[in-house]
Amino acid sequence: MAEFAQARVVIIGGGAVGASCLYHLAKAGWTDCLLLEKNELTAGSTWHAAGNVPTFSSSWSIMNMQRYSASLYRGLGDAVGYPMNYHVTGSVRLGHSKERLQEFKRVVGMGRYQGMDLTILSPDEITSRYPFLETHDLTGALYDPYDGDIDPAQLTQALATGARKLGAKVERFCPVTAARWTGAEWVLTTPKGEVRAEYVVNAGGYYAAQVGAMFGRRVPMMVMSHQYLLFDTIPELEAWTKEVGHKLPLLRDVDSSYYLRQEKMGFNLGPYENPCRAHWATPDDPMPDDFSFQLFPDDLDRLEWHINDAMARVPLLAKANLTKVINGPIPYTPDGNPLIGPMPGVPNAFEACVFTFGICQAGGAGKVLAEWMTEGATEWDMWSCDPRRFTGWEDQDYCVKKGLEVYGHEYGMHFPHHAWPEGRMKRLSAVHERTAALGAQFGPYNGYERALWYARPGDDVSEAAQRTWARKGPWFGAVAAECAAVRDACGILDLPGFSRFRLTGAGAAEWLLHQITGKLPSVGRLGLAYFADDKGRIVTEMSVARIGEDDILLITASTAQLHDRGWLERHLAPGLSLTDESADWSCQILTGPKARDVLAATGTDADLAKGWLTHQTAHIAGREVRLMRVSFAGELGWEIHTRLADTPAVWDAVMAAGKPLGLKPFGMFALNSLRVEKGYRTWKGDLSTDYTVLQGGLERFVDWAKPAFRGKQALAAEKQRGVTKRFATLVIEAEAHDPPYMATIWQGSQVVGELTSGYWGHRVGACIGLGMLKADLNQPGQAVEVEIFGQRYPATVKDDAPLWDPKNERIRA
Ligand SMILES: Cc1cc2nc3c(=O)[nH]c(=O)nc-3n(C[C@H](O)[C@H](O)[C@H](O)COP(=O)(O)OP(=O)(O)OC[C@H]3O[C@@H](n4cnc5c(N)ncnc54)[C@H](O)[C@@H]3O)c2cc1C
Repeated sequence: MAEFAQARVVIIGGGAVGASCLYHLAKAGWTDCLLLEKNELTAGSTWHAAGNVPTFSSSWSIMNMQRYSASLYRGLGDAVGYPMNYHVTGSVRLGHSKERLQEFKRVVGMGRYQGMDLTILSPDEITSRYPFLETHDLTGALYDPYDGDIDPAQLTQALATGARKLGAKVERFCPVTAARWTGAEWVLTTPKGEVRAEYVVNAGGYYAAQVGAMFGRRVPMMVMSHQYLLFDTIPELEAWTKEVGHKLPLLRDVDSSYYLRQEKMGFNLGPYENPCRAHWATPDDPMPDDFSFQLFPDDLDRLEWHINDAMARVPLLAKANLTKVINGPIPYTPDGNPLIGPMPGVPNAFEACVFTFGICQAGGAGKVLAEWMTEGATEWDMWSCDPRRFTGWEDQDYCVKKGLEVYGHEYGMHFPHHAWPEGRMKRLSAVHERTAALGAQFGPYNGYERALWYARPGDDVSEAAQRTWARKGPWFGAVAAECAAVRDACGILDLPGFSRFRLTGAGAAEWLLHQITGKLPSVGRLGLAYFADDKGRIVTEMSVARIGEDDILLITASTAQLHDRGWLERHLAPGLSLTDESADWSCQILTGPKARDVLAATGTDADLAKGWLTHQTAHIAGREVRLMRVSFAGELGWEIHTRLADTPAVWDAVMAAGKPLGLKPFGMFALNSLRVEKGYRTWKGDLSTDYTVLQGGLERFVDWAKPAFRGKQALAAEKQRGVTKRFATLVIEAEAHDPPYMATIWQGSQVVGELTSGYWGHRVGACIGLGMLKADLNQPGQAVEVEIFGQRYPATVKDDAPLWDPKNERIRA
């Protein structure tokens, strides 16, 4: 293998995803790339995949990836000179309930915005597309004209062929068995000799954890078994196909949890059953070193319900003979999305692995991975697939529980107020018992259980009651009362898990000033800082507390821990020190007009006259606390930062002091309501690399007078060109539902923007949308419409100021 002994990039794994990474890197001009496959290409999950290529996703970024794949596959055979079987049959996704139809309508809106013409079918219209179907119990269906199926092996070979033609190389039967970092490059051990690489990519599929371990990386994943059943020719189906000249569209009965595809003149039935089966999940069932081209034994018992259901839905199926069962391994991350991007904590290493739907996502994944590597950033914000969204606490027990849950609810609906129950109670606040006793209903944030709302006696806390798209559910009255307490008296929110980094060293302030778009607060003060990439796009937002000239505390979202730390470390100047203090501290938000009285009543030695955006070290109940005079809820308030061991004592003191003053605990739902009323953005909701700092309406956090900062050139150019779309606050006359993420904004027949947040503002008594709107329409009083679950509602653009307390008088009180 001498000629391969060195490459700029080595991709480990030759499934559909690895081959697509190779192809896209080569297309981007990185042709000195080598793919190493331990067996033959496709030997992992790819060879036996059913090959369905949907575009449907309720996630904006995954839909982007799948849409790109479908369009790539349409032209790939011709582009690389490798003909493929790719049938674009369209698909019919059946709905059994009102809620399911609402989900479909939302996806139709997202699809339209991405240029795809998805449509809703009535039960009658369904049979015109799919004649063999029982429709009596259906509420409708979603028709996706772009859906289809591809031969996964041909797809992989086509991608590899295209890559080879551009100069990239593939070495088969060449397993990587070890890796070492020299300080400048990776040296990979293979039976054919050592290979040196500047960069490596783990595209190891269900072996990704084994591959990751070679790099010292624990990949958060587990492996499920998934089966599909092949049925023999059915004469009626054959006759119909010949008559109409095409195959049936792919059928997904998502409420019964299976897909049913015409396979030649028979069917392919693939259930996502529940209960389902994990493999290689316990020490007595280790993953074999090599499972190439192997399958698990058939296990039809657990599919019996689905087979019967499918036969009742499409009675034709009952006439067919089952000819073959394919039972193969699929890897799952704890949220079911793949890992695409930088390998956390490992230099010059990337991941493109743990794909549950790696055939339909391979095309998009290759594009995304190549952008990460060649440009350092991706065109679309890809946080939903970023490996750093898992921060390292996810143990095997968690991965297995979540994998089983995701698989068992593969087609489940993700309701905005519902928290999935598995893998919970992994990271508890120091005052968890106390908040639970007060009625907290919890939801996980980076694994930390935080109160979503506090149930009152008689409130329905069942999981079933949270499964609704409606604004009003059992939580609504409680959240209204929590917001009222914050508005009229005082509320306390236990907020474990903030990420916090201490930046020190001579020149720290100077360095940070170059990283952020705006000014640094002076010593004793704090402020918000925005980090832009070289294109001026929003990378992250952090709270910056200046403790000394060159002693700075950076506080950021819990889930941003690895992402933000990675960004800071990547750019850190020599001689500076960055310490991650996230695990040592906790935080309470104490906010409301009586917050000062509550703190005073604790007997604290803090100077409570210090103004907004100051911080100080003080004592409560004899424990040292750091008080920060800010409030994400938009009222007078302090964040009380405590060391973990001190948190219960401080909580008890504040609660006791606050009781006579009307202090009430509040949860994340109330905080969401309160923050949208203030126009405060959330990271990876409103703030993402899909938008520039100027589009985000954050120009007041840009200090143009600074000689240089990251992104300045791009932002200055954008300002000169004119910002085409910009952050807007809308009030929407929506009766029963708040807008979901990426709800579209219309003017007449034109889509003119999208919402990144939508929630009911309890203090202002209105449905509020935050989002992006074409700049020329972004004028106070402008009338537009917002599409929510397929229905358009009148909306009005508001002033570029918070709806609640626009002059910030309450917060400065
Ligand atoms: C029954 C079934 C049906 C499916 N149907 C669909 C579908 O319809 N649509 C869809 O999108 N997805 C489907 N999937 C999922 C799909 O198969 C996978 O998501 C996809 O194949 C993953 O591709 P990959 O390239 O990431 O991994 P793989 O195909 O598993 O490739 C990983 C490769 O890495 C190699 N490798 C591992 N370790 C090393 C090493 N140390 N050195 C060198 N090489 C190594 C392996 O040999 C393997 O070839 C299905 C899966 C199953 C089981």
